[in-house]
Amino acid sequence: MKTDIVVIGGGAAGLGAILSAYKEGVDAVLIERDERIGGILNQCIHNGFGLHYFKQELTGPEYAEIFIDMLKNTSIKVLSNSFLHSIDEKNKKIYLITPEGVKTIETKTIVMATGARERPFGSLFIPGKRLSGIFTAGVAQRYINIQNILPGKRALILGSGDIGLIMARRLTLEGVEVVGVVERLPYPGGLLRNVVQCLEDYNIPLYLSSTVVEVRGNGRLEEVVVAKVDENFKPIPGTEKSFHVDTLILSVGLIPNIELIEDFVEIDKTSKGFSVSNLGQTSLDFIFAAGNCTIIYDLVDYVTIEGEKAGKYASLYVKGEKFPPKIPIKKGKNIGILFPNYYTPIEDLTLYIRVRRPMERGLLKVGTYEKDYKDLIPSEILRVKIPERYMENLKEIEVSIEEA
Ligand SMILES: Cc1cc2nc3c(=O)[nH]c(=O)nc-3n(C[C@H](O)[C@H](O)[C@H](O)COP(=O)(O)OP(=O)(O)OC[C@H]3O[C@@H](n4cnc5c(N)ncnc54)[C@H](O)[C@@H]3O)c2cc1C
Repeated sequence: MKTDIVVIGGGAAGLGAILSAYKEGVDAVLIERDERIGGILNQCIHNGFGLHYFKQELTGPEYAEIFIDMLKNTSIKVLSNSFLHSIDEKNKKIYLITPEGVKTIETKTIVMATGARERPFGSLFIPGKRLSGIFTAGVAQRYINIQNILPGKRALILGSGDIGLIMARRLTLEGVEVVGVVERLPYPGGLLRNVVQCLEDYNIPLYLSSTVVEVRGNGRLEEVVVAKVDENFKPIPGTEKSFHVDTLILSVGLIPNIELIEDFVEIDKTSKGFSVSNLGQTSLDFIFAAGNCTIIYDLVDYVTIEGEKAGKYASLYVKGEKFPPKIPIKKGKNIGILFPNYYTPIEDLTLYIRVRRPMERGLLKVGTYEKDYKDLIPSEILRVKIPERYMENLKEIEVSIEEA
């Protein structure tokens, strides 16, 4: 098979990319390893999707359905149940594992929209036996929302990111007793609206500056030991507290899916996702990337917007458009996560920033641009549009936030 663009991944980013490629009139193929397209949205049956993009509060499947319906009215080829196996970057060929066997596609450009995966229990080095009853939040969410299976009766959640908070509410609504959410940071890891709507509304306690130090049980989990941590996240002896639960849900971070091409494209050291320009272009000019495989986004609306952008510029690349040289963007003071890594000066620059720590007031500086912000927290991405004129003649753009 030959095509102009292959988009890998049928989540919000991939759907945005493929639909904008279609609008640009290029030949496009969408690859998805799952049976259904929609990505993580399919199992997120809570509302809170689309507030920015559609000015409506939708559930994940409703949000996905809008794009899937648009896709049905196009001639785009969709290959589901198809897993990207490898990319031959020299000959611009991709190899897929499909139900019919191995397939090869020759393409002019690729958009990676492979999302992220959950950090597993094994990476946490928590002492104890290998017990059943320990699930990542996404797996538990899939059990409940798609397969109608309850993971247990009494649960503790480790990690107060959005997924952990949303799962605390979901489990409670399904009749599971949630005894608490444990967070090693001194502040919640997820959006404030989720702390209120998922914990406070259901009287679920949040244990800050705490972590799990041991799991106990015989075959199935029976007890989880939690301790307070110091400022270096080291457990403080003598502060242990025991929870008798049969279920531990882990919501301890997402890791961008980059593995298949990490050997030949640049990876950002902090986000561990693909380094890209504001056009979504990676260090290998015919490969673009968008969505959670670049940085972990808090809102799907931003994923769609960046997916659309990557699809548009990948299409212009196919049509032979030459882009001006990229200007590196550098992280300055108090910047935790920053997107993008490079600026191609053909449109205004949209930055996505996670601050390193909560700040009551901060002065954002980008080139000659300055703006004051209040109540900045790492869990909420700050999205800022910087007009092109503020970066004129710069060889490097530094982004920093000074404590005001
Ligand atoms: C539990 C949870 C709750 C959330 N709640 C909200 C919310 O309330 N509001 C909001 O706005 N946002 C929310 N988000 C964030 C938002 O949903 C995500 O940021 C967004 O959907 C990610 O889209 P994506 O396309 O980058 O990744 P994904 O949706 O993960 O899509 C990636 C796709 O790539 C496919 N894929 C991966 N590797 C391969 C391969 N090798 N071959 C073929 N296919 C592959 C995967 O199967 C998947 O379909 C939530 C996220 C989660 C996880």
